[in-house]
Amino acid sequence: MKELKMLYLYPDMLELYGDYGNIQVLKYRLEKRGFNCIIDKYSIGDEKPDFKSYDIIFAGGGADNEQSILSEDLIKYKEDIKEAENEGVFFLLICGAYQLFGKYYKGVEGNIIPGLEIFPYYTEAIADRKKRCIGNIVLNVNLNGQETKVIGFENHGGQTYDIPTPFGKVLFGNGNKFGDTEEGFFKENVIATYLHGPLLSKNPEVTDYIIKHCLDRKYQEDIVLEPLNDEFENLCRKQLLDRFLNIDK
Ligand code: GLN
Repeated sequence: MKELKMLYLYPDMLELYGDYGNIQVLKYRLEKRGFNCIIDKYSIGDEKPDFKSYDIIFAGGGADNEQSILSEDLIKYKEDIKEAENEGVFFLLICGAYQLFGKYYKGVEGNIIPGLEIFPYYTEAIADRKKRCIGNIVLNVNLNGQETKVIGFENHGGQTYDIPTPFGKVLFGNGNKFGDTEEGFFKENVIATYLHGPLLSKNPEVTDYIIKHCLDRKYQEDIVLEPLNDEFENLCRKQLLDRFLNIDK
């Protein structure tokens, strides 16, 4: 049976606004199609994971405090993670994790939390602790030439700069910075984004993009995914898009 193996980094520290739901949705959409799904977890103190042996590596959002605690542990694995990324392992990184894969995160007090420096961007929080990009967000995203709207929820003080290839264009909400037109960082095998929600439950097309990408890579095929019944997901998406984008008004 074909299968995908996922690694969830720091589930006890990086899990905000239902980020774990992303793993559950991947598992659900794999199993519905008859694929197996293995989920391993890594936290501080655990044995070093074999990063390259995974198909998907996931890490969620976390507050500044958690980020500063785990940054040192994460950086121990910098070369292994870089190698896994170079070899094409898929990375799904939400908010706090998105920031930690860049050069650094500068907190409200000016404290620097070093990043993995795997991607070229950096993040700085603005001095006023009360000013945060908070709320629903809608993006226009191009997945393999297909335009789709991606819906989520953002809550970050960090403002991310120097992104060469953003995940999407902001149709509603803030994005990488207050009032930005762009959101996230995107490569064929990387989605790094501020979107919680959880991201994948609201956006089945993004989930299937990741699944197809990872199965194709692993089994050297051009797999056609069996369509699933997304009636409820689409109903939910329509409601949200109507509300946020005032479609039909
Ligand atoms: N601590 C970061 C910020 O506020 C990330 C928060 C999050 O992961 N939601 O910018």
